[in-house]
Amino acid sequence: MIPLRSLYVRDKEIKLPVFMPDATYGYVRSLSSDDLRAVGLLALMMNAFHLMQKPGSTTIQALGGLHKMSDWPGLIMTDSGGFQAYSLIRQNAKFGSLGPKGILFRPEHSERKINLTPEKSIQLQFSYGSDVLICLDDCTHINAGYEEQKLSVERTIEWAKKAKKTYLDQLSSRKVEPENRPLIFGVIQGGGEPELRKRCAEALLEIGFDGFGFGGWPLDDDSNLITDILELVRSLIPEEFPIHALGIGHPESVVTAYKIGYEMFDCALPTRDARHGRLYSRNVSRITPDTRPGWLKFEYINTETHIRDDKPIEEGCDCPTCQNYSMGYLYHLYRMRDSSYYRLATMHNLRFMTRLITDLRSANA
Ligand SMILES: [Zn+2]
Repeated sequence: MIPLRSLYVRDKEIKLPVFMPDATYGYVRSLSSDDLRAVGLLALMMNAFHLMQKPGSTTIQALGGLHKMSDWPGLIMTDSGGFQAYSLIRQNAKFGSLGPKGILFRPEHSERKINLTPEKSIQLQFSYGSDVLICLDDCTHINAGYEEQKLSVERTIEWAKKAKKTYLDQLSSRKVEPENRPLIFGVIQGGGEPELRKRCAEALLEIGFDGFGFGGWPLDDDSNLITDILELVRSLIPEEFPIHALGIGHPESVVTAYKIGYEMFDCALPTRDARHGRLYSRNVSRITPDTRPGWLKFEYINTETHIRDDKPIEEGCDCPTCQNYSMGYLYHLYRMRDSSYYRLATMHNLRFMTRLITDLRSANA
């Protein structure tokens, strides 16, 4: 665990740890920016690759950049598209290819080809007005063979050099004052190979970044967090630099990773779970970094026992949903497929995450 601190970007102070929901296309599904504020969020993770397709870079600029467009004055971090290359292309080569210069995407149902290079990814993130930029990386599965991991690490380092150069060029060509500069994070790859993780971490430290991301799929075949590799990577990076646990957002994984020294988290899971009817609850009043797994409870909305359930999703939750609505009513909205269900359920799960973060902070205070 790292002593409490903040991330300073432009005029913002973001207290760490922080959880950010995935707002891939510039929004969290079903929620307004008021809703996001109401559940105590400080930051959102958007995706440069998806945004360049929809609504498109020129549209985002015409609408005043990501902050203005989404009415979100808090922190916006943008992911580069490296993980999308992994999840699309590595699973199915018809969706594109990876080469030394970058990633070629062939989106489904489209004749378009999208070429994403480390340089272009940084230029895009700059033009969107993002607060924290992430370098394009070559993401692998934890179980990929050694040679594949090695290639991914060498490529990630090469791309990080190009990304950093582009970042510096953008700062000077846009005449950005030091206090107004966005931050830039490099991503540490290397799968389950300790020496490759070390090679990647050392090379990225030498290039110089404001923070780092833990890259690659973070779970083993049994869906357990790869804590040994997470611990190793944290030990390779001096404590002064924050590390973002990319894609980690299962509530129990957040606690485990925070204890190891990770302070930034993003994930689509809490919002996706809410929409699919899996609502979060806990069986202990306060969570600390030492709380053992088993404290998380799931309430499945699509359960007939909820028909006349007049209690909230979670007793003690201060979210607008729990304050005003019963499980029975949410069950009704869910069964009727009303869009208000998605909003109310998502607000609860996100408030669950921000309460968890508050608990971790106060336990470490
Ligand atoms: Zn609630």
